[in-house]
Amino acid sequence: MKDELLKVAKFGGSSLASADQFRKVGAIIRADAGRRYVVDSAPGKRAKDDTKVTNLLYRCYDEASQGRNFDRTFRQIRSRFDEIISGLGLDLNLSRDFEEIHRRFESQSGEDYAASRGEYLNGKILAKYLGYEFVDAASVICFDKEGNFLEDETDRKLSARLASLKTAVIPGFYGAMPDGRIKTFSRGGSDITGSIIARAIHADLYENWTDVSGFLAADPRLVKNPRVIDVLTYRELRELSYMGASVLHEEAIFPVRSEGIPINIRNTNRPDDKGTLIVETTCHTPEYIITGIAGKKGFVSISIDKDMMNSEIGFCRKVLQVFEDNQISIEHMPSGIDTCTIFVEQEAFINKEQRVLAQLHRAVKPDTIEMESNLALIAIVGRGMKNNSGCASKIFSALSAAKINIRMIDQGSSELNIIIGVRNKYFEDAIRVIYEAFVPQDGKEGR
Ligand code: ASP
Repeated sequence: MKDELLKVAKFGGSSLASADQFRKVGAIIRADAGRRYVVDSAPGKRAKDDTKVTNLLYRCYDEASQGRNFDRTFRQIRSRFDEIISGLGLDLNLSRDFEEIHRRFESQSGEDYAASRGEYLNGKILAKYLGYEFVDAASVICFDKEGNFLEDETDRKLSARLASLKTAVIPGFYGAMPDGRIKTFSRGGSDITGSIIARAIHADLYENWTDVSGFLAADPRLVKNPRVIDVLTYRELRELSYMGASVLHEEAIFPVRSEGIPINIRNTNRPDDKGTLIVETTCHTPEYIITGIAGKKGFVSISIDKDMMNSEIGFCRKVLQVFEDNQISIEHMPSGIDTCTIFVEQEAFINKEQRVLAQLHRAVKPDTIEMESNLALIAIVGRGMKNNSGCASKIFSALSAAKINIRMIDQGSSELNIIIGVRNKYFEDAIRVIYEAFVPQDGKEGR
């Protein structure tokens, strides 16, 4: 017998949106006996203008809790599951589940309970289809009475329960509090469930099956056919996701990361693609110097000038205190001899602007304070950067050739990334020209 790797395979909503998608999932699971524990999402969109079942559940519960008639939405939800069951020709009757769910909508058992039913019902169907045991997440994923996730208790329960099962389907997204009430993670939280299970059973790999062939090196709306990143470190992933690139729920990396378990992002619709492997560290040399580029618009810079600032002990602390007191998170803080600049999100800052300015004047008595709005930050990320000279020069040459003025430069001491600030209006072009400077475009040379 082959010595299979032990895997947790999580399938997202679009992978389980219809009977056809279920068939693809079935073929993937059957192709590898190591895929013993499967985590499901609720049925997602079948086409662009479709509605996710989780959204229908929220809507339905909202109608129920306002005392309105919710039967129409309820029927719409039910038909999504009935369609999958009949499409697969399964001998499975979920009538009793639907009756109970209907009752509990009427008695208003909570929004989290309502939202979780998508994963619960889809899990039952998938378990039946695969011939795997169904394990209700409410019995193994634990929250305290305030709704905080309980890591150790969950770990204990999960490993004990799954040790006795060769194969199982466990619904994603939810668990239960000590009194049995259902609690969900935040939206997209089935990714977290998969990661928690992978840790609890010491899986060799956490597979996250979705509808893209991995993490892209740049936003495909801005760059034509960006390449798929083959190997990505957790730190690179954090940098890119913080700047808006997303495939995984951002909290999903922590459980597996602490155990050194890699995550493999795979495409249910193209199962032969290798996808992206996310690892703690690797000696795999990246193909290009940069791993990826991501960015966000909508920042403000606040530049504070004061002669002899550099010799004034505690200056920066006082400045930062003002932002903390106003509950504004700081993105970057490049500084000069007599000047320091703070970058913050425009939306969080704009209503507090005048109060912050007044407090800064009081706190550090600056000579001048200047602000610039509508700035974009772009992170150029790559573990390969620290061993290569000329990265910054390549970025700056590309921007200068495109006549894009750089408003800020920040290179982290880890040399994992270079952040640049440009005006919002140059954001798209900046990403494109930087990408092209590093990655070959049909026929043209990149480096
Ligand atoms: N179904 C839930 C959502 O739409 C959770 C998930 O898919 O991960 O947010």
